[in-house]
Amino acid sequence: MNALNIEKLVSEFPLVKQLIALEEVCWFNPNITTLAEGLPHVGLDQTNIKDASERLARFAPYLMKAFPETAPSKGIIESEVVAIPAMKKVLEQQYDTQITGQLLLKKDSHLPISGSIKARGGIYEVLTHAEKLALEAGLLSESDDYSKLFTDEFRDFFKQYSIAVGSTGNLGMSIGIMSAKLGFSVSVHMSADAREWKKSKLRAHGVTVVEYEEDYGVAVEQGRKEAENDPSCFFIDDENSQTLFLGYSVAGERVKKQFDDMGITVDEQHPLFVYLPCGVGGGPGGVAFGLKMAFGDNVHCIFAEPTHSPCMLLGVHTGLHDAIAVQDIGIDNITAADGLAVGRASGFVGRAMERLLDGYYTVTDERMYHHLGELSKHEDIQLEPSALAGLLGPVWVSGNKEYRERVQLDDHKMKNATHLVWATGGGMVPEEEMASYIAKSGC
Ligand SMILES: *Cc1c(COP(=O)(O)O)cnc(C)c1O
Repeated sequence: MNALNIEKLVSEFPLVKQLIALEEVCWFNPNITTLAEGLPHVGLDQTNIKDASERLARFAPYLMKAFPETAPSKGIIESEVVAIPAMKKVLEQQYDTQITGQLLLKKDSHLPISGSIKARGGIYEVLTHAEKLALEAGLLSESDDYSKLFTDEFRDFFKQYSIAVGSTGNLGMSIGIMSAKLGFSVSVHMSADAREWKKSKLRAHGVTVVEYEEDYGVAVEQGRKEAENDPSCFFIDDENSQTLFLGYSVAGERVKKQFDDMGITVDEQHPLFVYLPCGVGGGPGGVAFGLKMAFGDNVHCIFAEPTHSPCMLLGVHTGLHDAIAVQDIGIDNITAADGLAVGRASGFVGRAMERLLDGYYTVTDERMYHHLGELSKHEDIQLEPSALAGLLGPVWVSGNKEYRERVQLDDHKMKNATHLVWATGGGMVPEEEMASYIAKSGC
């Protein structure tokens, strides 16, 4: 984009100027609609979620065997919801605001197998592909006990096929570990920001790791190219995959069940706010879709991005979606929040979900580090920097009267609110690495 075009974009969308200046901004979406109005634009519905949920249930006996850490949850990959009252007090003091209602944390950071939100979508997509191959070969039927996949016969079968993916780290971890376990030969194309320990862990699982000096977009393109030359290779396309999206969406009905068990009400008088860190968009988009299907118009989803990688906010706000990257307006896409270091958002997710999301905001690396240290100190929960992006969300909501009035959230409803911050990763960060994160936090 040349200087003239940027000038035009900025005059039409003044917010873009703040993005270029790397300011922290919050944009509450004026074009939000009801679920009933927005749903037709998603192109997916409850039957697709049900299908994903049933597929995961079929694989549960296999996962229990292949990954014994999933045995306590009977092969279902799910995370806890916990209250973080001490962190709530810290936020209220720090930002001189009152966060009404309760503050909860969804610990996808501690999901089994790969320790991040990618254990939902990434693993689901690999399982879907494996099932399809095995069904087509006549080796499996949907009524079988899928633990039979944990045998040499199946590993030898999957060995004939390969899987490739481009990743900033966590998607590669999920897809790499799952694919290798099934027997696939798998290569993960890692962008420059991917952490060294993630690469080592993957290599230890027998995954081929290809490293790039460039960012996520380049790693994806190279992975795609390599796969095109090999008909037995399946390329997992994080930017456009409906399968990944559906793997994430199952989270909605699961959270609903967890809330029922915890006695948490969500209805018109008891709104739910969910704050989701966003990279390319598939994870938060899929989760938000599932939440909308589970809680309807009573859930309000808000995406959080680094000030250096605000790709979804930029794409949705300007309506340009994947036709614009943050680099086009001079932003470097360099952030310590490696899971969110994406310059160009998924056009599929932006277009599908733009009517159903309440807002988007950006947050600096310094603030993510600071909250990382605070959460460790006050709640003894350790996360990776990306996973802290959501913590500022309740502060933006509490501070914006105009938004709350527009969507008819009066003080009475806000008193009953539940704020759920989605902690997207960090459970597998090695101790020394976590110590260096905490040292950087200044806490
Ligand atoms: C991938 C990732 C996200 C965001 O998911 P996208 O699908 O890229 O939007 C958030 N947090 C962490 C830790 C991640 O790894």
